[in-house]
Amino acid sequence: MTADLLLPAGVHTGRPAPWTLMYHSVGDRRAGDPYLVTVTPDRLARQLRWLRRHGLTGVSMRELLTARARGRAARLVGLTFDDGYADFLTEAVPLLREYGHTATVFALPGRLGGSNVWDPEGPRKQLLTADGIRRARSAGMEIGSHGLLHRDLTTLDDHELDAELQESRRLLAEITGSVPAGFCHPYGAVDPRTVAAVRRAGYDYACAVDPGPLACGHALPRAYVGQADNSPRLHAKRLLHRVRRPRLAPLPAGSVPAGGTA
Ligand SMILES: [Zn+2]
Repeated sequence: MTADLLLPAGVHTGRPAPWTLMYHSVGDRRAGDPYLVTVTPDRLARQLRWLRRHGLTGVSMRELLTARARGRAARLVGLTFDDGYADFLTEAVPLLREYGHTATVFALPGRLGGSNVWDPEGPRKQLLTADGIRRARSAGMEIGSHGLLHRDLTTLDDHELDAELQESRRLLAEITGSVPAGFCHPYGAVDPRTVAAVRRAGYDYACAVDPGPLACGHALPRAYVGQADNSPRLHAKRLLHRVRRPRLAPLPAGSVPAGGTA
């Protein structure tokens, strides 16, 4: 069993967060999109072309953080797809490859081939199977964990929290043959306890959405990208990131260093 990523301890601390975009589903929106989680393939293609036009390459979090540790991430943008929808493989991957980008998909190994039952209003969207996860990886994409079942970690007791973090990691390692380096907090919900638990579980990094003062290598902020994000809006989001430039907090004393464990 290999590990996906090995980074020196604390390599990102005190540095500005890298620019990272957050997607979910890519597909038809005619069935409704009450949670605004779907972009059409045509819109994604335009956004990927926008990156290219501006000399930017979208990459997986693993590639982004590894390049950053070597000082080579100036023209890189993190691309992430949450929940592990089956349309990641059928719609997003072909476009990512066409435009020369890669991405990280955060999958739910407790709901293989299931659907997004945690969104009460739907519409129901199919999630990747184990085979789909393997195919996404074979296509050059990074597989990260989104936990087992898409639960808000801040509401769980210690036992449930450990299961979401460790069992999902173990299952993904079994499926892909490689221990996942990354985690993504469901709903972007974080508190100091869950961030520490993700670090303790052995993940090298974790993505959040807007973690505020908790921003660190295990709660990386990301920018939401949706169907409305045309070229002027992408410019505005990039500018906003540059103005805000949230800094990543140092590792707390005595915590397990990132990397080095498989
Ligand atoms: Zn999610």
